[in-house]
Amino acid sequence: MKFKKRKFVKILGFSAIALLFPIKAILAATKKVINPNLSKEQKKVMFNEGTERPFTSDLLKEKRKGFYHCANCGNKLFASTSKFDSGTGWPSFSEALPGAFKTKLDKSFGMERLEYHCAKCGVHHGHVFNDGPKESGKRFCNNGLCLIFKPE
Ligand SMILES: [Zn+2]
Repeated sequence: MKFKKRKFVKILGFSAIALLFPIKAILAATKKVINPNLSKEQKKVMFNEGTERPFTSDLLKEKRKGFYHCANCGNKLFASTSKFDSGTGWPSFSEALPGAFKTKLDKSFGMERLEYHCAKCGVHHGHVFNDGPKESGKRFCNNGLCLIFKPE
């Protein structure tokens, strides 16, 4: 009798973990650290929707041909042909590659801005505005810390 009781407790404990697991798995899938070498600053921007200080990104001067990837998961986000100098101090792009991002309305700081995040790993990248200079009319204002440039 004693043995049976213990076995029952064990089964109960196991089902509790099994029940909790799908919720945890869903939460983790929306935003998770894939690149273990991310710096503290990168994590702050990507996971807490922070903003890097303007005019600090080395990518502002990047003029080579290639692609910009997500620094966390490597997802291909922008082609160098869409990059332009917006004068804002953040790397700016007129359009993203199809399916690269998902967007969400951000109402922080008393403004309504369209926040965008990596469609693959969910980390924050920047905000998109409708005052772009090219045909798309878009300006993707991206934190340089979230990007890795790979020249072609
Ligand atoms: Zn990503």
